[in-house]
Amino acid sequence: MPVTALYPGSFDPVTLGHVDVVTRASRMFDRIIMAVVANPQKDSLFDIPHRMRLVEDSVGHLSNVSVESFEGLTVEFARKHRANVIIRGLRAISDFEFEFQMSQMNKTLYPELETVFVMAKLDYTFLSSSMVKEVVKLGGNVSSLVPQPVQKALSQVSSNLKKGEMRH
Ligand code: ADP
Repeated sequence: MPVTALYPGSFDPVTLGHVDVVTRASRMFDRIIMAVVANPQKDSLFDIPHRMRLVEDSVGHLSNVSVESFEGLTVEFARKHRANVIIRGLRAISDFEFEFQMSQMNKTLYPELETVFVMAKLDYTFLSSSMVKEVVKLGGNVSSLVPQPVQKALSQVSSNLKKGEMRH
């Protein structure tokens, strides 16, 4: 039976670390759904449709990857799409505790579900969406860390920020 895997995340915005994880996962599973999670507790830079568009433009070359979004429990979304694998990336030990708890909880809620962890590529071990946003805010260059469509969207953000500063 074909295996569908779900790769959930905030992807605000998607980085080359995420693209690396999904590229490697796309060779392991028949179908991957990258799902942008609407998390009201997190302050976001891009809204959900924009985040989805940026993910689509960044992974369009991977034929077995599709992009969706959802709110609420990841396990419910997984069940609805008959996905019994969740993919998560691990960068450092600091990711471990939260991811471990989350995978145990998801397993309790959906026993047929397996969480598969993909280790970050060494070059992207210290890469996170929040770090990218911070660097952009401070005027830094993130071109080696994000896909081209994201780079474009971020330059728009930083030019808007500059315009805002000039108005003050
Ligand atoms: P969330 O808010 O769910 O953590 P993120 O978009 O920050 O959403 O991350 C989604 C998933 O991708 C998480 O499992 C995270 O650990 C993983 N991830 C994020 N950045 C990287 C990276 N540079 N390398 C590998 N995995 C990563």
